[in-house]
Amino acid sequence: MVARTTSTIQLAAVRGLATACWPLIVLVATAAHAATVKDVRSKMGSRFEITAVHDQEAAAHEAVEAAWAEIDGLEAMISSWREDSETSAVNRSAGTRPVRVSPELFRLIRRAVKVSELTAGAFDITFAGVGDLWDFRAGEPTVPSKERIAAALRHVGYRRIVLHEERGTVFLDDPGARIGFGAIGKGYAANRAVFVLKEHGVRGGLISAGGDLVAFGRREDGEPWRIAIAHPRDPKRVLARIPLTEQAVVTSGDYEQYFIHDGRRYSHIIDPRTGSPASGLQAVTVICPDAELADALATAAFVLGPGEGLALLERMEGVEALFVTETGEVRSTSNVRRHLNQEDRG
Ligand code: ADP
Ligand code: MG
Repeated sequence: MVARTTSTIQLAAVRGLATACWPLIVLVATAAHAATVKDVRSKMGSRFEITAVHDQEAAAHEAVEAAWAEIDGLEAMISSWREDSETSAVNRSAGTRPVRVSPELFRLIRRAVKVSELTAGAFDITFAGVGDLWDFRAGEPTVPSKERIAAALRHVGYRRIVLHEERGTVFLDDPGARIGFGAIGKGYAANRAVFVLKEHGVRGGLISAGGDLVAFGRREDGEPWRIAIAHPRDPKRVLARIPLTEQAVVTSGDYEQYFIHDGRRYSHIIDPRTGSPASGLQAVTVICPDAELADALATAAFVLGPGEGLALLERMEGVEALFVTETGEVRSTSNVRRHLNQEDRG
């Protein structure tokens, strides 16, 4: 058996393109003073990057610090690893009593449940009940038995989350139920960071929350932020280059955390309906204005696969997506198609 964890950079900010195409913007940019501050830190078990453009450098640094503080606060709230997090308190009280949580966590859970409804349960924060059986970080990961999966699946299902609006409580109505924010937390953190940066007068920014990207405003030179979507199996091969203004780009794939057993590749995204890793795709990238939604939808689309997943995202207004199937075929929603390389346009 081969156990592997790779950390390929799938999305890379691409600079300096198409200057000639944007003469008006460049003129506007050179007229104003600006400073760009970029900072990289490890958060939520991933590499986070914040780039901020501000009229004054000191203010940019202050803004970035405030964004880090915000992310730290969120991590303390949603971490399943930290005993003292609100999330752990909810999990510990599963089947016994409702837990009053902060309005922020309450709203996050409510939004997560909405995405579950929207995706027919493909995205489900109670996946954790069965997800814990699959340890992708173990030196020698094993495939759990059918019986263990079936037993764990009985505790999975977003309908086990009982929210009481007036009391602000969360109750998991099954003692074996667990929630986890692995598929939405980084997107949420990216959104919050944008909010804090804007509050501090940052006029343009790019955030990478472990590869989940969100951009607002423009770069210091007045051009839009630009990102490249790389092929999941060949990071040097760029599938599409996309200019971003107020948009998030989030990829879920089978390349960052996975293991191979008996020639089969097991990804860390679990199909909550079967209790086993989802298959059918190498990666899916979702583009929409909201990083949290993009994060959740990317995971959901990965579970749903190229057929159902693409159909769902195509129906959603303001949401675009690019899929790379198991066999390497590239498929996308109509608006992304024009950003694709000629050869992948199909
Ligand atoms: P990444 O965090 O690697 O960028 P995702 O956003 O797709 O990728 O999140 C995957 C993580 O989400 C898993 O590691 C796990 O913690 C959690 N997860 C796995 N399957 C599901 C699912 N069906 N619904 C919700 N969360 C999931
Ligand atoms: Mg996700």
